Amino acid sequence: MSTDTAAMAPPSAQSPLAVARTPDDLRARVAAWRKEGLRVGLVPTMGALHEGHLTLVKYARELADRVVASVFVNPTQFGPNEDFSRYPRDEAGDARLLAGAGCDLLYAPGVEAIYPPGFTTTVDVGAVAVPLEGHFRPGHFQGVATVVTKLLLQALPDVACFGQKDYQQLAVIRRLTADLDIPVRIEGVPTVREPDGLALSSRNRYLSAEERRQAVTISRVLNQLRDTLGDGSRPVAPAITQATETLTAAGFTRIDYVAVVDADTLAPLERVDRPARALIAAFLGHTRLIDNLALGPGV
Ligand code: AMP
Repeated sequence: MSTDTAAMAPPSAQSPLAVARTPDDLRARVAAWRKEGLRVGLVPTMGALHEGHLTLVKYARELADRVVASVFVNPTQFGPNEDFSRYPRDEAGDARLLAGAGCDLLYAPGVEAIYPPGFTTTVDVGAVAVPLEGHFRPGHFQGVATVVTKLLLQALPDVACFGQKDYQQLAVIRRLTADLDIPVRIEGVPTVREPDGLALSSRNRYLSAEERRQAVTISRVLNQLRDTLGDGSRPVAPAITQATETLTAAGFTRIDYVAVVDADTLAPLERVDRPARALIAAFLGHTRLIDNLALGPGV
């Protein structure tokens, strides 16, 4: 344990890791590191951690001297019919995993520490937040953008790591940090997958054994889209129709979108004639899964 960590308040009984509960507490700890000239990395999460989150922590470790992981199930990014109240929560388990991955501080604020009485300001990012997830989850990106802005301003990290798994979210966060002049380097970390290709997600634990078998079709379809469309010779529309049919045949009960878009603007493409992203959001029963893959020139 480094001297600066040893000087901090002892970890709570359940936690093998120092925990900050309020913005002031977080700021004091980060300020102490800064005074020593240390570089700080931030990994925002909603907890129920898996190897994907831990990869972000390890990535941040490479780029910074100290790593803060936040665990905050952000109510404002969930719609009224979404899974906020049943979203998995396991702070003690998360703290153990974070400590093992080389995290230095867990920031686990309560809802009232992030949204105190009287809170009204929100961050609205504009065009990149409108299609896809923005369309099917109204208000979602306003909630994400607001909480990420707050977390960045509370921690003031040198670098913050986010997963490419949430590709549009990454684009939204890049946009807001540029537009609001928040002095942080944003790193997009490649998606961590199960051996069969399923992207790791906290929501995978909702899947029944049968749904888990069906779920792999999303990554298979993304790979097919990349193989079919990647060289730009074929039109996108028939491939999307085919992909949608494959998902339906595999048991997906509702498909929000299968899209092939410009990698930067997220505008739909007719042909993959530039760096692109294929994205899928679809339900197995009550569980909504999302995934995406790079395709096109340079892939
Ligand atoms: P969440 O807890 O789902 O809000 O995710 C927190 C961070 O972990 C986000 O930046 C996600 O994009 C990232 N993440 C989630 N799943 C994965 C994964 N399978 N691989 C890499 N990053 C991930």
